[in-house]
Amino acid sequence: MSSHETFDHLVIGAGIVGLATARALQQRDAGTVLVIETENRVAAHQTGHNSGVIHSGLYYRPGSLKARLCTEGRAELLEFCAQQEVPFEVCGKVVVATNKAECTALAELARRGKANGLEGIVHLGPEGIRDHEPHVQGTEGLYVPQTGIANYSALSTALARSIEEAGGQVRLQVAAGKMRRENNLWRVETNRGPLGARKLVNCGGAWADRIAREAGTPPRIRIVPFRGEYHTLAPKAQHLVRNLIYPVPDPRFPFLGVHLTRMMGGGIEAGPNAVLAFSRAGYRWRDVSPRDLAGTMGFPGTWKLFARHLTTGIGEVQRSISKAAFAKALGRLVPEITPDDLSPGGSGVRAQALGRDGKLLDDFHFEEGPDALHVLSAPSPAATASLAIGKEIARRALG
Ligand SMILES: Cc1cc2nc3c(=O)[nH]c(=O)nc-3n(C[C@H](O)[C@H](O)[C@H](O)COP(=O)(O)OP(=O)(O)OC[C@H]3O[C@@H](n4cnc5c(N)ncnc54)[C@H](O)[C@@H]3O)c2cc1C
Repeated sequence: MSSHETFDHLVIGAGIVGLATARALQQRDAGTVLVIETENRVAAHQTGHNSGVIHSGLYYRPGSLKARLCTEGRAELLEFCAQQEVPFEVCGKVVVATNKAECTALAELARRGKANGLEGIVHLGPEGIRDHEPHVQGTEGLYVPQTGIANYSALSTALARSIEEAGGQVRLQVAAGKMRRENNLWRVETNRGPLGARKLVNCGGAWADRIAREAGTPPRIRIVPFRGEYHTLAPKAQHLVRNLIYPVPDPRFPFLGVHLTRMMGGGIEAGPNAVLAFSRAGYRWRDVSPRDLAGTMGFPGTWKLFARHLTTGIGEVQRSISKAAFAKALGRLVPEITPDDLSPGGSGVRAQALGRDGKLLDDFHFEEGPDALHVLSAPSPAATASLAIGKEIARRALG
């Protein structure tokens, strides 16, 4: 790598958002594009550890960026997957209410879904639910036909291939470090030597706030890592789930609650819960980064979050350490599931943006610096919405 290499656009991070952004920049003839990624593969963090669901757009506040970009992105995603032979399936899902309060919330979800353009949502009674998912017990439910499953790692690989075919580059094991502006150009130090760029696009996921600060734009939010843990259903219990079974989410949180998901590669996953992680790559309890932990605990928003949601937090930790507690949460949806049916699966770490006021950011969030755009919040459904988010970022980056 020569020290004089300079690109029109340097995209930091080869998760699905960075890759989709690079592709969108190329589609707008934005000049030379380089994507750099710390890890030795694309989709190494959130993108490769998610639930693999193609979200419909049911949950999001009409008019929010999430609502618009999920709807637009889903349509593009299906087309891209079909063209590139990326495995996907549109199988529909059932959202299940088990008490009166959840039935009220379910009606609001149906209203949002319709406002977000979803057609064919069916309101179900207990029998209707069983027609779709024979082992689910619920008071009321919604069937949402647009939801599906996809392999987001394969999708990211296809995106990287298409970037390279269009003349761009994706370089792995290249980590952006210190950066500064020199003569209207960015000079970014990496472990492989310096790189030059006219514009920076920071798609660094869990590290995006640090990258923004390094680039001279201290962000208004802090990224706090929340681990989502999964269990897999034993083969003897897999007949209990046909497709996707979701609870009614607690509207106070951006997380959807533990659900059951048929995976593209076969098998059923249950999860994810949401526990505070002690590292931005904290895939297990024992992964502790003193720097990350100090960053989380030194942020005033963290303590306000704890004070507000202590009971919920304790419940999540219980579900993390006790298989019985995890099985109990699933049993509200599918009573036949027992702790014996579960074995520990993988986990993913959400890059959760948190405000100083202790509020969890729910929508996508970007901040701008000189010739730089920082993607500081790209939570679920960012994988579903990635192709539309990429276009939105490219539009903003190009001014
Ligand atoms: C548990 C879980 C379940 C989810 N389920 C779903 C789902 O079912 N459907 C859905 O649509 N969405 C889901 N999401 C959300 C979705 O996966 C994420 O929103 C999306 O993957 C974010 O992509 P990203 O590119 O922003 O981040 P990431 O995939 O995390 O990519 C960021 C990349 O930046 C790299 N990087 C960081 N710092 C540097 C640096 N200094 N130099 C170079 N590279 C750097 C990292 O190594 C990383 O690879 C889920 C997320 C989680 C965590």
